[in-house]
Amino acid sequence: MARMESIYKDGNDTITTNTGRFRPPPNQPAQGVCVSWEFGQHNPFFFTREKAEYLGLIGSYRGSSAFLIAGGPSFKGIDKQKLRLPGVWTMTINNATTSFRGNANIIVDEPQRFNMSTFLDPAIQKFVPIDHFESKLWDNRLVQDFNGNPVQMWELSDIVVGECPNVVGYRRNEKVAPWRFLYEDTINWGNHQDICLCGKGQRNNRGDPCPSCGRTGQFGGRSVMMSAFRVLFLLGFRTVYLLGVDFDMSPEKKYHFSEERHTGAINCNNSTYEKLQVWLAQLRPYFEAERFRVVNCNMQSKLDAFDKMPFEQALKEATEHIGDPIKERTMGMYADLAQKRGIPQPPQRDPYTTTPPTTPPTPTPTPTTPPTPISPLPSPSPLRPLLPGGPIPSAALPPPEIKITY
Ligand SMILES: [Zn+2]
Repeated sequence: MARMESIYKDGNDTITTNTGRFRPPPNQPAQGVCVSWEFGQHNPFFFTREKAEYLGLIGSYRGSSAFLIAGGPSFKGIDKQKLRLPGVWTMTINNATTSFRGNANIIVDEPQRFNMSTFLDPAIQKFVPIDHFESKLWDNRLVQDFNGNPVQMWELSDIVVGECPNVVGYRRNEKVAPWRFLYEDTINWGNHQDICLCGKGQRNNRGDPCPSCGRTGQFGGRSVMMSAFRVLFLLGFRTVYLLGVDFDMSPEKKYHFSEERHTGAINCNNSTYEKLQVWLAQLRPYFEAERFRVVNCNMQSKLDAFDKMPFEQALKEATEHIGDPIKERTMGMYADLAQKRGIPQPPQRDPYTTTPPTTPPTPTPTPTTPPTPISPLPSPSPLRPLLPGGPIPSAALPPPEIKITY
């Protein structure tokens, strides 16, 4: 079937398409169309499996709040129903989908580690490194046989990530540079195993000390959480509430879903948490300069780079501008604007004559329940602006050279 053009396009939409407020004048750079372009970047960040075209997701959630759900056991104590309230947008990390299936999920590691049911679910938007598009999934689904008996699948599937619905690819980098993090053309997920935490040294051989600071034990460290922050920023979110970010793994406290972790893996995770503490503290002033606010909703979390806030307070903050959509008034919404504002209607004219009618039109019968005039919003509006104000002058930013104290 050939692609076809519509016969009668909506005229108003056509005008807006050609003259919309974000349409730049000829030969002028586009400003303000999305956060990516505001930073002078026309670089594609989100890809389809074919990679030839990219998904224009940048800035699509502009100014909104997101709840980022990690794997820490503190998430067990969260009332999941409240994460279903209107206005709550959620992104899970790795297999946190086991406890809660949100709007999006993000991974960086091999897809065989993550629930196949997440990949097959069109309701969850999956952010995956583009390298994983052709990776086969591990089938861990609990399905039913022909008699309705449960069957626990446990085998390598023939389905690859790129065949699944609602999958978005992104491109990674492996060197943390806090002053670049929000602006660079790929998405950081920590340091490569030959790059030192000091930010200056890169070793040539495994076992060598850092050529810059001389230490041996501060190489590498990668985490999907780093990528999650950048992806949320690119999507346009400007407040991120952290759930299940405990930074405190032990044999007794691992995840809010069942999983084995041997001692070496637990030590490795705790070592990564220490590096994340350093990186996130370095990133915070750059986040704040862009009005990108991160709040930790686990009051007992060992991550102390961000301010803390109880979950209930975060929920209120994230959703109060939505109000109560279940009980809000819809009666009369389809009336025209003048009627809704309670303005008397002008006498009706015959659209085919230029002379006013000699007899006034018959008044419309008074409805049995007259619509109550809608009072205007108080001024200043209680609604927060969708996008915060302009950037902080660069002089207010800390210098790019980061000093780390240990
Ligand atoms: Zn070093």
